[in-house]
Amino acid sequence: MFTNFDQAQALVKQNAIRMIDLKFSDLWGRWHHVTISASEFTPSLMENGVGFDGSSVGFKSVRAGDMVLVPDLTTGFMDPFWEIPTLSFICDTMEADTKELFSADPRETARRAEKYLIESGIADKSIWGPEFEFYVFNRVTFENGVNVAAYRVDSIESNWNSAQGGHGHFIPLHGGYHAIPPRDQLFNLRSEIVNTLEDIGLKIKYHHHEVGGPGQCEIETPLLEIISAGNASMLIKYVTKMVALKHGQTATFLPKPLFGEAGNGMHFHQLLQKDGVNIFYDPDGPHLLSKTALYYIGGLLTHAPAILGITNPSTNSYRRLVPGFEAPINCFFSSGNRSAAIRVPQYATTPDKVRFEFRPPDATCNPYLAMATMLMAGIDGIKKQIDPKDAGFGPINEDIFSWPPEKRATILSLPTSLEMALHALEEDHQFLLEGSVFSEEMLTEWIRVKRCEENQIRTRPHPYEIELYFDL
Ligand code: GLU
Ligand code: MG
Ligand code: MG
Repeated sequence: MFTNFDQAQALVKQNAIRMIDLKFSDLWGRWHHVTISASEFTPSLMENGVGFDGSSVGFKSVRAGDMVLVPDLTTGFMDPFWEIPTLSFICDTMEADTKELFSADPRETARRAEKYLIESGIADKSIWGPEFEFYVFNRVTFENGVNVAAYRVDSIESNWNSAQGGHGHFIPLHGGYHAIPPRDQLFNLRSEIVNTLEDIGLKIKYHHHEVGGPGQCEIETPLLEIISAGNASMLIKYVTKMVALKHGQTATFLPKPLFGEAGNGMHFHQLLQKDGVNIFYDPDGPHLLSKTALYYIGGLLTHAPAILGITNPSTNSYRRLVPGFEAPINCFFSSGNRSAAIRVPQYATTPDKVRFEFRPPDATCNPYLAMATMLMAGIDGIKKQIDPKDAGFGPINEDIFSWPPEKRATILSLPTSLEMALHALEEDHQFLLEGSVFSEEMLTEWIRVKRCEENQIRTRPHPYEIELYFDL
């Protein structure tokens, strides 16, 4: 939004802005914020920043103690949800003493990956198109101590309004893909989310109802540069949840909130540009893809199990990656098969738009780290010239679930648990350390914390275990 501090300060004065909100992402991809009075918005803020305790937001063993936030002026936007006029910034985190950019800062990590790309001479820009799937639920309401919303979820198997003892029907909750109202009851909500994002200055490609019956939605942005795509991801999640809240609903990007319904993916379309030209395009290549694009695919698929330790970093992530819901299951690429880890969209055929999407990621990732990870794997594939065909990664355009088990077993599977993905990341992360883009220290901390989360889930009795074993 702003190119210099004076511009920002002029707007603060003009619009009688009273609060400056400083937002920053922790290691795990959650925004935090601290709000300063507009009178504190001075040039010294840009030099000295605002202090915070880095140990409380996941930066602990990497950097214990005092850190500072410095606003990234280009990200300024009027926060639409505060009553008092508030100008918001996404911030960089810095060392309190040296004022150097904090090395494990997610945005800084993504910047380093981009720098590594440029220095490799392969390309001068990576371009990203993240897709956002989410569910909207009625907020949990209790009647006589009973969770009414839970009943609504349970009742999706039948469209009988039998709880009332009558014979009423309601609109079936399945068949949500691009559904039109009245089946799509979230049109107004999505439009308000998109309007709010556009008022903030973000371009949105479209929104629609998704396959997941009761309230699954999708919003997509046009293609963006790496840091803009990360910023947009944080903003979209924030605005979506806040607009839903305003209407007494909750929006969740959780990969698999409902058993038996489609999960929420966060596919990333990607391509590389050199001198403004898409180097993934070759009119004579398979699916219009250049050799460089194929090698990038080879890198992504070779490292996919390890990549998932960053792009699918929750136990819930792996409840989504199951057959039958258009979620990716296997390490191959394809033009049509949605169970493939990589899909080449057949609608993107112009030289500037030819690309593919990496389908495994979900929104429990930190988007900056996820993109840095995918980019590093792609660069590794290009450097090592990993031909996906030679490596057994396709292209395959058949339904592999109709293949006999022996044949299907020849295709590598994606990890089926967080534990497997973290193990893969532990074993295979040299490609992330190149150019000091990631550090061993940061990855060790990441794996440690994620293993604790996994342990927290694994050691808790599961409600379905009661169903299966309680009276055994
Ligand atoms: N919801 C699916 C997933 O979990 C993706 C559906 C689609 O291809 O848009 O990835
Ligand atoms: Mg979708
Ligand atoms: Mg997609």
